[in-house]
Amino acid sequence: MKDNYKFLGRRKDLVNEIKEKGITDQLVLDSLLLTPRHYFVDSGLEEHAYLDKALPIIEDQTISQPFTVAFQTQLLCLEKKQKILEIGTGSGYQCAILYNIGVDVYTIERNHKLFRKTSELFGKLNIRPKIFKYGDGYKGLPDNSPFDGIIVTAGASEIPQELLKQLKVGGRLVIPVGGRSQTMYRITKESNEKYKKEKFGNFRFVPLLKNKN
Ligand code: SAH
Repeated sequence: MKDNYKFLGRRKDLVNEIKEKGITDQLVLDSLLLTPRHYFVDSGLEEHAYLDKALPIIEDQTISQPFTVAFQTQLLCLEKKQKILEIGTGSGYQCAILYNIGVDVYTIERNHKLFRKTSELFGKLNIRPKIFKYGDGYKGLPDNSPFDGIIVTAGASEIPQELLKQLKVGGRLVIPVGGRSQTMYRITKESNEKYKKEKFGNFRFVPLLKNKN
């Protein structure tokens, strides 16, 4: 795995592009600059890694568009050391962005091939989520809850109630909900009975799949 000035230069341009598109959270921008996306795309696609585009990864899944990664991460309103759960590890890029911000990351992937490939990559890159679990993200991680934030990186047909339960009071769930195209929601747990629901435009993710494990 090699980084170099060419890729660093492209990363700087990408960060500027994402800033122009409205991302202001400095923790997110710094992490984008620090995290080589070309490590997370399939070999052969490295030259495309710093375009602001989603790209295919194995098993018919995708690595999200950098803007989308930045947008979802910004919606979490992170502070260092927080406890964050990600559903849908995929290539590991979003997880690496969270890790490089300095939060404690817990992440779940249900596809075994991706789980194995990304575990190996994390080992090579020294990216250390607190837990990287092979399993069904709909269930969350009850034993490690509550979380300051939960980020879902696949399109859900509905808001998983189990994930809401696993938020701290004041915590946020960022999740795309819908069918072929999804609306980005941020749900803030204001108390154990009260949730604030906000909408943030339309996106297109691969589906969050149900009932495997
Ligand atoms: N965050 C990823 C995006 C990957 S695409 C990245 O940065 O690359 C979405 C991922 O969600 C896929 O890897 C898919 O296998 C996974 N997924 C789909 N349904 C899931 C579920 N119920 N639980 C956990 N992961 C799921």
